[in-house]
Amino acid sequence: MTEIGIIAVGGYNEMGRNMTAIRIDDDIIIVDMGLRLDRVQIHEDVEIDKMHSLELIEMGAIPDDTIMKEVNGNVRAIVCTHGHLDHIGAIPKLAHRYTAPIIGTPYTTALIKHQIESERKFGVKNNIVSMNAGEHMEITKEISIEFVNAQHSIIDTIFLVIHTNSGAIVYACDFKLDRTPTLGEAPDFNRLKQLGEEGVIALITESTNSGRNGKAPSEMIAHSMLRDVLLGTEESDVGMIVTTFASHVARVNSIVKFAEEMGRIPILMGSSMERYIATAHQMGYIELPEKVEIYGNRREIDKALAKIMEVGKDKYLPVVTGHQGEPGAVLGRIANGDTPYKIEKGDRIIFSANVIPSPMTQANRYALETKLKMRGARIYDNVHVSGHAYREDHWELLRMLKPEHVIPAHGTIQMHSEYIQMAEDAGYILGDTLHLLRNGEELYIEEE
Ligand SMILES: [Zn+2]
Repeated sequence: MTEIGIIAVGGYNEMGRNMTAIRIDDDIIIVDMGLRLDRVQIHEDVEIDKMHSLELIEMGAIPDDTIMKEVNGNVRAIVCTHGHLDHIGAIPKLAHRYTAPIIGTPYTTALIKHQIESERKFGVKNNIVSMNAGEHMEITKEISIEFVNAQHSIIDTIFLVIHTNSGAIVYACDFKLDRTPTLGEAPDFNRLKQLGEEGVIALITESTNSGRNGKAPSEMIAHSMLRDVLLGTEESDVGMIVTTFASHVARVNSIVKFAEEMGRIPILMGSSMERYIATAHQMGYIELPEKVEIYGNRREIDKALAKIMEVGKDKYLPVVTGHQGEPGAVLGRIANGDTPYKIEKGDRIIFSANVIPSPMTQANRYALETKLKMRGARIYDNVHVSGHAYREDHWELLRMLKPEHVIPAHGTIQMHSEYIQMAEDAGYILGDTLHLLRNGEELYIEEE
């Protein structure tokens, strides 16, 4: 008899600060330790790297792991499934409280190391261990973990499988079933089906886009849309600026390739561009043309923008941060006229990103677009596809894995309810095999 506990620590009542603890008898594996960025950004003066965990917990910015004191068992490992901040951002604040290694794919662990280096309050000394998709690792005599390749809006994302004597537990938080990714391999469908045959006790899965009809479009679609916008034009000599998620390595890679086709030199600008893209390049995930330039700090960025004005806007394709209208990001500074780059009538700003649907970002983004338009810019909006599975992708994952129990995570209660409706259609019963968890709750499952 094995007793399994699924402890919802964070990310069950909201988008962000994901953290789940999975207890197998007395051994615990923590999955993800994320940050909820909007709770930090709402205070204009916070310096998160200097703040104490308890302060951040009170703000709702990081998971409230004080509940772990009431859970009986020892934490054996902390596993991060991908490198987004809502999955790794609380590592510098919480990981040191556990005597356990931090495990992730090579790109994810590289980003975790950056996080830990920029922390100024706590010293995180946990061992950091890299493991590739397709590999296994023994955690205790009874428990091992396996990484199964997935796709998402950041490279090196995995489904986590925890193998126990009674069957597997699968954690699928943040994935899309993309069969034609532009970087990396498609999800390992064979292995997922095989796991379904071997026996899955529980599936913990994101509910983010489970309210959206159909399947999430492949990254190949975003690639085509971008090509169409950048190369499909009769005005190929105007100023063009692309803004996208710096962590979306595959997307930035596409943009850089298109810049070459356009005969322009790609210049990546912004501190997060430098962190995510230069790291991916150094680790061999992407190749960059020799001419590419990457600038992280403000002085270098302004120098490069001055050079563009001097040599000619048609010779360069700046790829910048600031698509959500974040104050201080490169695009915002350009819109404010605070850089040497002057927007002229007919210049194009291409947003390869959606607007994050929170009132604060919507307001920032509205202000940004208005300022750009007032200077004469033409706006290309939402040249983007989501990195999160839609309803029918979730349906397929459920039918491949055939878990006994399903727990929606990574979303608001509205998102969970959309997921629950889909799972009910698939035959699951709420309160019996389908479970709605709130932050701070533990679900008990007894297995033979
Ligand atoms: Zn993610």
